[in-house]
Amino acid sequence: MENSNQQHKALIIGCGIAGPATALFLKRIGIDSVIYEAEKTNDDYAGLFLNLARNGLRVMDELGIDEPIRQEGIVMQTMKMVSGKGKMLGTVGQSTGEPQGYTIKRGFIHKVLREEALRQGIPIEFGKKLRSIETNEPNRVEVSFEDGSYASGNILIGCDGIHSRTRKIALPNSPVPSYTGLISFGGFVNRSKVPYERGIQKLVFGKRAFFGYMVKPSGEVYWYGNMDYNGQPTRRELQSIPQEEWRKTINGLYANDLDPIPQIVRSTQGEIGVFPIYDMPPVAEWYRKSVVLVGDAVHATSPNAGQGASLALEDAMVLVKCIRDLPNLEQAFSMFQQLRRDRVERIVQYSRSIGQRKHATNPVQVFFRDLMLPMFLKQANKDSLGWMYDYKTNWEDKITV
Ligand SMILES: Cc1cc2nc3c(=O)[nH]c(=O)nc-3n(C[C@H](O)[C@H](O)[C@H](O)COP(=O)(O)OP(=O)(O)OC[C@H]3O[C@@H](n4cnc5c(N)ncnc54)[C@H](O)[C@@H]3O)c2cc1C
Repeated sequence: MENSNQQHKALIIGCGIAGPATALFLKRIGIDSVIYEAEKTNDDYAGLFLNLARNGLRVMDELGIDEPIRQEGIVMQTMKMVSGKGKMLGTVGQSTGEPQGYTIKRGFIHKVLREEALRQGIPIEFGKKLRSIETNEPNRVEVSFEDGSYASGNILIGCDGIHSRTRKIALPNSPVPSYTGLISFGGFVNRSKVPYERGIQKLVFGKRAFFGYMVKPSGEVYWYGNMDYNGQPTRRELQSIPQEEWRKTINGLYANDLDPIPQIVRSTQGEIGVFPIYDMPPVAEWYRKSVVLVGDAVHATSPNAGQGASLALEDAMVLVKCIRDLPNLEQAFSMFQQLRRDRVERIVQYSRSIGQRKHATNPVQVFFRDLMLPMFLKQANKDSLGWMYDYKTNWEDKITV
């Protein structure tokens, strides 16, 4: 497959984070894309919030769209960890210098990326749920969608998230997502009385479950928690449980914790969002013929390290640099996999290990967790998790074999 960029047309499956970011970088190197999104319309209020770490923000900066995130997001400098009894266990991060990241409503980051793609003339088609992929002819990909329509191009980039249909079709021997045994939930409280402390995210190892929250200068609280949940629930199954039941369960979970936790949970407005937490075991091959996987589709990580979105953004940039600099797609995809694999697998592992620390439920586990955590945090601060947050890839630097 020769790599004259003018010959390529990319089909991008999924308009989450990786999809529009990849399309924007491709546009820079002269490759036109169309983004196909399964949802019928964009939902700017979907999916609670996420922490965009500074490594991901650097990619948004490269795309020229970091400012809205800095303006709208809640800056995060340090995470303060507190035990269920109110004892300070330690902090991660520095109160000055470059923030660890910004917490932002998921719908907002989608909107920023999507609007930039549209502004640059990249078409986004909604209601296009990928059904099948054909790669019989060299340098050609044909896809069909559930609505009966078709599209063709030269490259297909699977940005369709953890339950990627692209992965299932193009790389059928890939492992399936692995359930961590935890569900995550959260919500928003407008105009609370919880004091605003600039740059601080509070993480409380509550009596029965973990709880995290941060406050905007306006008093709005963003909060989330985790709990054990048996089986292999899907998001749809969790959503089918009535909100009143979730409220009862979650209120009960935090009823004996110190304020402001029970207060925050009780005064949550709107829906409490509930998500099963899966991550991806290592995927051996990230591409086949003209099809390549990016972001959660190939290396979804649990949210504990707050890195999934940032990794998806990094991927977008590195993949397109590889396509730009290497003579053909085979070499570009192979180099992309080689450059990214160790980093993403390390983060998936690290994030899972944090989840297990939060997970302590019986008093003995809690005792040892509270004893060990300050040492773990000291170590994390010593290394300052630089390997995770300070990853940099410059757009101008050439990739060579
Ligand atoms: C509860 C929770 C909290 C999280 N918190 C954080 C955090 O704090 N920080 C962080 O960095 N990450 C966080 N993450 C992870 C983060 O959301 C993902 O890593 C990130 O969204 C990955 O981006 P993506 O573009 O690869 O996939 P997605 O954002 O999942 O986008 C995939 C897109 O593909 C579409 N799609 C799916 N199937 C098809 C199909 N067949 N055809 C067409 N389109 C399709 C979907 O509708 C979606 O729009 C969290 C995840 C969860 C579940």
